[in-house]
Amino acid sequence: MLTQNLGYPRIGSHRQLKKACENYWAGKITLKELHQLGRSIREENRNTQLQAGIDLIPCNDFSYYDQVLDMSLLLGNIPERYAPVLSQIKGNTETDLYFAMARGYQQNGLDITAMEMTKWLDTNYHYIVPEFKSKQKFSIFSEKIFGEFAEARHLLGNKAKPVLLGPVSYLFVGKEKQEGFNRIDLIKNLVTVYVEIINQLKQQGATWIQLDEPILSLDLSAKEKDALNFAYRYIANRVSDIKIMVATYFEGLLENTHLAVNLPIAALHIDLVRAPEQLEDVLEAIPAGLQLSLGLVDGRNVWKNDYERSLGFIKKAIEKIGDDRLIIAPSCSLLHSPVDLELETALDSEAKSWMAFAKQKLDEVRELKLITKGNTELLVANNEAIKSRRNSNRVNNPKVAKRVAAITTVDIDRASDFVTRQHIQRQRFALPALPTTTIGSFPQTDDIRQLRARFKKAEITEDEYEQALKQATIDVIRWQEEVGLDVLVHGEFERNDMVEYFGEQLDGFLFTKNGWVQSYGSRCVKPPVIYGDVSRPVDMTVKWITFADQQTKKLMKGMLTGPVTILQWSFVRDDQERETTAYQIALAIHDEVLALEKAGIGIIQVDEAAIREGLPLRKSKHRHYLTWAVKAFKITASGVKDETQIHTHMCYSEFNNIIEHIAQMDADVITIETSRSQMELLQAFASFDYPNEIGPGIYDIHSPRVPTAEEMVALLTKAAELLPPKNLWVNPDCGLKTRKWPETKAAIANMVAAAREARLKI
Ligand code: GLN
Ligand code: ZN
Repeated sequence: MLTQNLGYPRIGSHRQLKKACENYWAGKITLKELHQLGRSIREENRNTQLQAGIDLIPCNDFSYYDQVLDMSLLLGNIPERYAPVLSQIKGNTETDLYFAMARGYQQNGLDITAMEMTKWLDTNYHYIVPEFKSKQKFSIFSEKIFGEFAEARHLLGNKAKPVLLGPVSYLFVGKEKQEGFNRIDLIKNLVTVYVEIINQLKQQGATWIQLDEPILSLDLSAKEKDALNFAYRYIANRVSDIKIMVATYFEGLLENTHLAVNLPIAALHIDLVRAPEQLEDVLEAIPAGLQLSLGLVDGRNVWKNDYERSLGFIKKAIEKIGDDRLIIAPSCSLLHSPVDLELETALDSEAKSWMAFAKQKLDEVRELKLITKGNTELLVANNEAIKSRRNSNRVNNPKVAKRVAAITTVDIDRASDFVTRQHIQRQRFALPALPTTTIGSFPQTDDIRQLRARFKKAEITEDEYEQALKQATIDVIRWQEEVGLDVLVHGEFERNDMVEYFGEQLDGFLFTKNGWVQSYGSRCVKPPVIYGDVSRPVDMTVKWITFADQQTKKLMKGMLTGPVTILQWSFVRDDQERETTAYQIALAIHDEVLALEKAGIGIIQVDEAAIREGLPLRKSKHRHYLTWAVKAFKITASGVKDETQIHTHMCYSEFNNIIEHIAQMDADVITIETSRSQMELLQAFASFDYPNEIGPGIYDIHSPRVPTAEEMVALLTKAAELLPPKNLWVNPDCGLKTRKWPETKAAIANMVAAAREARLKI
């Protein structure tokens, strides 16, 4: 029986890589210094894994930006627009080309756009999307993997296992940049280069190689299945004396089980955290000789492994295939875990005893092997920790459980239907046609960030902090009045982050000091940890919203984050269904909505920015998810009066297959991101005859560019052709916190002018 790891966080235990990359981009350190730092992180990671007793240790999982971009560079898949970065400009290196692809290149008279970035399957990690042309050629370009393998082998010998994204998944996660071909058809060209790479690694002494094919746990077309069969047969016929492991994760193999277990490979890795039920099917179908890697330790969460449960899976597997064909592993790469729990010195010891970060997860993998071999002490100790969490009264709050249980019997619909509410709200608010508003936040300037930092370090008093925030709020209200917006917001200056702000005030959440996880490039996030039943001890936003409301005669919109978004951007407890946790958060937000209504706030927005990204990977699971996600949202707005207008906001609005669920949310007004797609994304709402009011974003807040009023009138005209003009609102695509003030002021002024002009035309 072996142990293995699939990938380790590369940001460094103190986010050293983030700082080094940013310093390199700013010209503050040399390439040599950056590479030195990279080497020291790799060395530390190898030692950590070696000491943890891992038998197969990944290499090439290190990356200066993104492992999918590394693949593109390895395979020589470099879009033509970057050619000048290497050929025309002296002094540029492969690393500069690499960062140019990741971040764009605006130097030396060149202005080359970055490659697109998108979410890695259902994670919050973003990868750089490979670009393909119909005649795409591949050949080894970057030598990074060979260098890193040599380095790893030097220390680890046969334990060093190079990791690559598999060929079919590499094509799958990319995008055609030309019409008239299917990128999966490039597999024939691509796989020859994989053979070269594998053979070169073998010559360097590699005995194992891990090819990640996460697409094996997705719904696949016949073409994609054929490509998988073709690719692995092609490789098997051309390489020998090296063991190929295919790694799948984030979902079960389901109908791809037969395909996966019959690939001509040495080992298959499956994720038993996300899809425990697949073990049975896989054991049923597994052919003699195939080694099986059991993904038992959750690579996507922070909880201690339940050894007894894991042992159950191990025993089942041993019964069927014996222990010499088994490998024990985390469920997926530990890239998605924070690095080291030991650094959490401020966390209380009880909560700490329930958790495991990447470093601790390696120990769990080793201990699972020891327990399988008969070590009972470890099992007993683990049982205690699991029991302490399960039975803790910090985790369980009977009142909350009771309230959630009662939901099923409570009517969560609004009192009246939308048409009735619309009528009442129109009389109450007397807004013009095409009312203007924004999504909530205004620029979080350096001043505001420094203010918060100084407050956290106790350099200023709470009173000074609040006074400064109040002034910022007053200023932004005055400006919104002057520029002529119809529905104002308070600007969200008091919020560090739209999830953390609420988590900090709710019971059942805890926060780490160093629990960083890479989100993209040098950007890391520190998700809150939901460890217990969620409840709301006191009002969270009422003070700020009513303060803002008192500063103006205009309408002030109250701003809340919705349950699914809070869930999606946190580490969530694994001892109950996500659905249940969502309902608990929903009840807390519901109480806040009612408190705002009681305080006289007539318009309340419940942001569900992340509802779309929470969609499960498998289509068969969409309906279940959407049903509870919509229900959670509706709980937040249930019980409010007809005259209270509930808004919601969603980022990224590709709603084609889920529009009926979006409609079921029954928000009085929904604002969505549509400007970059030139209103194309509205089509789904139009075809569905979406009945409620809607604000399709008419300018892209992701860029500093100031759109003209004419452009925005054109977009509004388009929107008015697709949807009833009487239901339209005018707003930007999303919140403005990442923008600077000058462009924000100019763009909003143009937006208001556009609305005024459109009112005359539409
Ligand atoms: N109200 C939030 C803001 O404006 C919404 C942000 C989001 O959708 N990501 O910042
Ligand atoms: Zn948004």
